[in-house]
Amino acid sequence: MSIGIEEASALSGQRSPAAQAEKSSPAPHAIEIRDLHFHYPNSDGSLHGISFTVAQGECVAVIGPNGAGKSTLLLHLNGILPEGNAADRGGEVRVFGNAIGPKNLAQVRRDVGLLFQEPDDQLFCPTVYEDVAFGPRQFGLSEQQVAERVGRCLAYVGLEGFDQRSPNRLSGGEKKRVALAGVLACEPKVLVLDEPTAGLDPRGRREFMALVKDLPATRIIATHDLEMVVQLCPRVILLDAGEVVADGEASKLLADPNLMDQHGLEVPHVLRIERRPGV
Ligand code: ADP
Repeated sequence: MSIGIEEASALSGQRSPAAQAEKSSPAPHAIEIRDLHFHYPNSDGSLHGISFTVAQGECVAVIGPNGAGKSTLLLHLNGILPEGNAADRGGEVRVFGNAIGPKNLAQVRRDVGLLFQEPDDQLFCPTVYEDVAFGPRQFGLSEQQVAERVGRCLAYVGLEGFDQRSPNRLSGGEKKRVALAGVLACEPKVLVLDEPTAGLDPRGRREFMALVKDLPATRIIATHDLEMVVQLCPRVILLDAGEVVADGEASKLLADPNLMDQHGLEVPHVLRIERRPGV
């Protein structure tokens, strides 16, 4: 009787070569960007050789002044490549080890959920239910599964009972929550959020932060809300004029007044060392 390598390894108590290889190869990065170049054909907006990786489960902030290229960068992460000539783009974005390309775009869009800065860019259905159901339906789930996801995600963002409301008739904060519910309903492994707290009132902002903090997904958040970054993101990537100018520990980079000043930002209040009179 002959036995296979796997069975022999199991009997001898040794790991098979395949199992050893699996153990020794590290988990792929959630996102890996190598030398990404991009130039809008009709403006000066550009990305100039962006490179960084994001490990699975990390929560990373992308910060920088207006026009730094944050939104343009985020659009590249789920394959929404802004219009541009082939000559105006270069480099590579990998999602869980696979370079984004036409063949895997559907899988990439499943793995990476993008919350747009403007909820009006995301919401286009006549009812909240239809909007949140749109993504799961694309994945071929049954109507019962879709209904279950919609109900769960609307409850998660605090919008139970909003199913039949028109997104057009909601406040900015409510629209943002519907858009987030729609992204979460797709159960992405990577959540990419563009200015998620802009336009929220203080309570909405607090609730939003609590929601995002508890999510198990890898999170990449472009924002001007540096107080939120201190609460949520151990790591910060600082972008200016389409380049990464700093990448490191949030508590160190955000507390550096010169760095913040050079790039049109301010040290968040919670990290300012208050000088008391006479001290
Ligand atoms: P940020 O999100 O950091 O504010 P953006 O990525 O929105 O920066 O913009 C970066 C640069 O690209 C800006 O100069 C902006 O004017 C330009 N830009 C953004 N979107 C477009 C577009 N669709 N067409 C042409 N230029 C654009």
